[in-house]
Amino acid sequence: MGTPHESRDDQMLDVLDQLYEEYPDTTISLHFSTRLELLIAVMLSAQCTDERVNKVTADLFEKYHTAEDYATVDQAELAEDINSITYYNNKSKWIVSACQTIVEEHDGEVPDTMDELTALTGVGRKTANVVLQHGHDIVEGIVVDTHVQRLSRRLGLTEEQTPEKIEADLMGVVPEDDWQEFTHLLISHGRAVCTAQNPDCADCRLEAICPSSQVDHDVDLASGEAW
Ligand code: SF4
Repeated sequence: MGTPHESRDDQMLDVLDQLYEEYPDTTISLHFSTRLELLIAVMLSAQCTDERVNKVTADLFEKYHTAEDYATVDQAELAEDINSITYYNNKSKWIVSACQTIVEEHDGEVPDTMDELTALTGVGRKTANVVLQHGHDIVEGIVVDTHVQRLSRRLGLTEEQTPEKIEADLMGVVPEDDWQEFTHLLISHGRAVCTAQNPDCADCRLEAICPSSQVDHDVDLASGEAW
């Protein structure tokens, strides 16, 4: 069918209701036990699967425990430790630099404000939002990763293109209590059904309200191009 609700608010609430039912236990899939581990895991996860990050951090977190451990290690050694991660060389530089700042300016503790977090090397708004939400229980934005970006556009929840603009736009339409879960719900659906290359529209519970449904529509609103 692929007929969205007339109002964006109604479309959003229907998407949320259905995805909460479909994925009742969804949450962050990165493994961590401290704020520092969370920060490192999220930094490693850019352009890389959470599954691979979890494999690498299983050993990494046995070797490195404090911000000082990362701040003082030879960068080449850290790069070697994470060499199965995408862009491992740059990421090792960013981690060493970020942890030096954490040691020098924050007594070795991961800071709890957006400004302080995004001042760390290699930490953008997306990473900072994840650390605030899951490390500090502070929800002041919506994490927009590649799945959230793609599905929000496909489902007609936003027409914005960049993560920063999509986040600002979504903050006006996602109920604030759902900001954190919204990300996990869309990521779960993006992995399970609405994949980038091969979405299973015929078997998708959002098909009836999705303006990109391949069953009835010719255009993938995520890209604006024909399926
Ligand atoms: S799988 Fe198809 S119908 Fe479902 S949300 Fe994605 S594009 Fe829409």
